This record gives sequence, C-alpha cells and structure tokens, in this order.
Amino acid sequence: MEIETMAANCALLKARDAGNAYRKGRSRKWKEILHFPHINQCKELENSIERDYYSLCVNQPIGKQLFKLFCATEPKLQHLIDLLEEMAKYEVTTDDLKKTSRDKLINKFKTSQSSMVREMVHKEMQNGNLNMENFISSCHSALHEYLSGAPFSEYQNSMYFDRFLQWKMVERRPVTQDNFREYRILGKGGFGEVCACQSRASGKMYACKKLVKKRVKRQGGEKMVLKEKQILERVNSRFVVSLAYTYETKDSLCLVLTVMDGGDLGFHIYKMGNQKLDKNRVQFYAAEVLCGLDHLHKHNVVYRDLKPENILLDYEGHIRISDLGLAEILPENKLVKGRVGTAGYMAPEVVAGTSYGVSVDWWGLGCLIYEMTAKKPPFRNHKEQISKKDLEQRILEKVELYDKMFDEETQNICQKLLAKNPKERLGCRSGQGAEVIKSHQFFKNINFTLLEAGMMQPPFIPDPRAIYCDDVSDIDQFAAVKGVTLDEADEAFYAEFNTGSVTVPWQTEAKDEPAEPILSKSSAGYEKL
Ligand code: ADP
Ligand code: MG
Ligand code: MG
Repeated sequence: MEIETMAANCALLKARDAGNAYRKGRSRKWKEILHFPHINQCKELENSIERDYYSLCVNQPIGKQLFKLFCATEPKLQHLIDLLEEMAKYEVTTDDLKKTSRDKLINKFKTSQSSMVREMVHKEMQNGNLNMENFISSCHSALHEYLSGAPFSEYQNSMYFDRFLQWKMVERRPVTQDNFREYRILGKGGFGEVCACQSRASGKMYACKKLVKKRVKRQGGEKMVLKEKQILERVNSRFVVSLAYTYETKDSLCLVLTVMDGGDLGFHIYKMGNQKLDKNRVQFYAAEVLCGLDHLHKHNVVYRDLKPENILLDYEGHIRISDLGLAEILPENKLVKGRVGTAGYMAPEVVAGTSYGVSVDWWGLGCLIYEMTAKKPPFRNHKEQISKKDLEQRILEKVELYDKMFDEETQNICQKLLAKNPKERLGCRSGQGAEVIKSHQFFKNINFTLLEAGMMQPPFIPDPRAIYCDDVSDIDQFAAVKGVTLDEADEAFYAEFNTGSVTVPWQTEAKDEPAEPILSKSSAGYEKL
C-alpha cells in the first residue's frame, strides 16, 4: 500500500473513531454553530410553519422529543405517552416473550388511570375477538387523535414549541463546505468523487457525493441529478441511504449521505477470498434489500438499478440500497418506460422496451439472490466478455442454470423472481407485493418485524480497522472538463438543488446535542422582550 493511501486511511480511521465516540469528533466551535436565535427572530417561521400534528410531534425527531417533554409536565398526558411507548416496545418483542408482554400490555390498558383509555379497551373487547394487531392499531390512532387535539394546541403555546422553532431556525441555516471536514475518497461516480466527511457540529461521519457542475452540464445531467435528490428527500428507511444535506461549492453540487463503511456487496461476493457467502448472509441481505425496495415502492419509487455494487454495508453489517440516480417516480398508472439499468441485470420487460412498474425490482432481487449464491450473475459468467446485444438476448430467452450451490428453496425463490413474464413473477400479480415474497420459504428464518426495527443481529460484522475500498491511487483522477462554461442560466438549477439540511436526518444528528436548559428564564435567547 502506498504511503498516500496509508496516511489517508489513518486520518479517516481517527475521524471515524472520534465520530463514533459520543460528541468527540465535533469542532470546538460547536456551540457557535448550533447557537439558537432569539425567539423574537422566529416570528416569521412561527407564522408560516404548517401546524400538522404528525409532522411536528411524531415524524420530526426534535419535535417529538419536545412534545414529549411538554407532555411530561402533566401526569395525564405523560401516562398516554407511556402507553404509546409500551405499544412500540411490544411490537418488537421476540416471539418467546410475546404472550407475557401481550397480557401485561392489555392489563395496563384495562387498569389505565385514564377513563378514555379504559373505555377504548372496553369498546374493543365488545367488538369480539381481541386481535392484538387490530387492538394496537386502533389504540394507536385513538391516542394520537386525542393528543392532536387540545394537548397539541396547548403545546403550541408553550415554551417547548418556542424551543422547537429555535431548532428549526438552526436547521434552516445555509449549509456550506465549512460545515464539514473532508477525508479520503471512497469511490468514483459518473459526475464526481465520493469522499468521507464529518459534520463539525456533531462529529458525525457522512459520505459526500460530489457532482462536478461542468460534468453535469456537459452530459446534460441536470434533470437526473435533481430527480436523485428529490427521491432521496422523499424516502426515509434504514435500508436506503439517507440524504442529510445538499450544498454547493464553486465547482460542485454535493449530496451528503449516510456513510457506509463496510464495502459493497460486489466486494463481499468476489473479493473476500474463495469461499462463497453463507446462506444466512444471503438471506439476511436479501431480506434487508426486500424491505428497502418495499419502502421505495410504497413511496411510488421504482429503483431500476439493483446489482451488488449498489448495495452497501455499514460498520455494523446492515445494508442500504444506494445510488438512486436511475430511480424514477411512478405516475398515477404506476407504469414507466425507458431502457434503463445496468446490462445483465435489466428485466426482460425493460430490455423489450415496453412499459413496466415495480416488477423490474423484484426481478433485480432475483438476480441478486442468484448472484450471492452462485458467485456469478444469472446470465453471464464472472468477467465473461459478451456483447450487450447477446446479453440482452439471453435475458429474453435463456433459462438460467442452477448448480449444486442452490438448495431447493433458494432455487425456488430465484425461479419465481426470475420469471420472464412479469405477470407470473412472485410479488407482481395484482394486489400482491413484498408480503408474498416475505412469506416465501426462503425467508423462514427472518422475523421481518424485528428486521425492520433494526433489531436483527447481522450475520457478518465488517472489520472496524479495515477500509473497504480501493487504494486512493487506484481510483483514477477525473480529467479536467474543457469547453464548458457555467452561466446565469445554470443558477436556477443550483438553487433548486442547494436546499441545505434535510429535516429528519438533520434532526436525528442534532437531537443528541445538549440544548440550553429550557425552563430557566435565562436560557439563551428565550426571554421574550
Ligand atoms: P454514481 O451515481 O455516479 O454511480 P454512486 O452513488 O454509485 O455514484 O457512488 C460512486 C461510488 O462511491 C460507489 O460505487 C461507492 O464506492 C462510493 N459510495 C457512494 N455512496 C457511498 C456511501 N454512502 N458510503 C460510502 N461509499 C459510497
Ligand atoms: Mg453508481
Ligand atoms: Mg448513479
């Protein structure tokens, strides 16, 4: 390894250690960075912010925390919050404990100090069978409905909401490259490099995907770049990389993303020695990808570029889907057109040039399970030289082969996902979807409730001292872009791109920072003048 790579790796490992240790990696100036504006400066925001209970008190992490603090000032409300938390806990209890916790939970509701809750339970019991899932979901909505009434109104007149507005003002501050420290290059994309970076305010590590303005312009990639950004903003799943910030520099547009330290699945399939991936790893990764795709589809996004290189591992061994550059938003009829994807992985209906919907991603999942198992993609040998046309012909006509690497259930799920006709493919018949795929024998060891709560232990943990990417010197430098000049007309596009912090990831990062105490009149910028 060259000295340059060693130095870059050392710096990255040091930053990563500090970033993982609570608050260690942040700048000495973090207090300045996160300084609250005076409450009088929040007036405009106060008048314009949408007063939506779910957005303000459930979905936004800081909003949720402050609403909870508000509720803690009144025992009656605190009790309702406790019940909500008990329900959330119950949903992720393991099967062996389910029965006991179920009885405990129902008992808590039956003996609740709140007559509203007791009546609710009474009503549910009268409705006949006490199906736990129905019970939880109706209690859930009833509690939120109650909280979204008078308590939500009172909250908006409290100091807690003022503090929320102060946080929102910090969230909306412009973001520039000065908010981050930059580390080594992790990989190379079509429009620029991806580097590791660290938030100065909190020490949290991210990946910064740079899109060089001149390269974007030369390739006419403006629409594509905006779409990638818009889709990333729209989704929020532990199985898809999150977008935390966008900003621009003189030369580049930057997407600040969840950093994935564990390498991509292509690396783990092909570059980790001769053995193949254990079946439990294949199942685990397939299950997490399945949940990620399900999330995208629920948000009307079709991914279209499933392949091992686009599935990244984090330091704990969980995966996320990355590179949403080819993803598309589905219109009303849920169908799109376009021969888009990577050669060898495109579904037959894409190759054929017809319109298609989310079926193409279930095909992609079939390709992925196949490749993780066989150590080669279904229609091509590893590194086989073959023309694009021949490869497409195989996809349309050839039936993939199964050798002894495949046990019965793995072969069965691959065959069902690789059905040439999307109408016959698993998960694609009308009214079907991720659920039928989850209940296939292949996934019998996966508890999807726990998996989706992030509570299943990954079968493989990447080495925390390793850097799972190529040496710095092996990643080619970009050539300078000649003959492209940026002008006024490009500014509108940059402005649409450069919107700063993205609410949920930003609040998740900032939430752990100590805010000045809220109840003292002297707390910074609070006293109303
Ligand atoms: P492009 O859309 O231009 O292909 P990608 O999103 O695929 O760009 O990123 C290029 C490369 O950068 C990837 O192949 C991977 O090696 C690395 N990379 C991308 N995103 C991340 C991330 N979130 N964490 C770590 N490495 C990443
Ligand atoms: Mg890519
Ligand atoms: Mg891309």
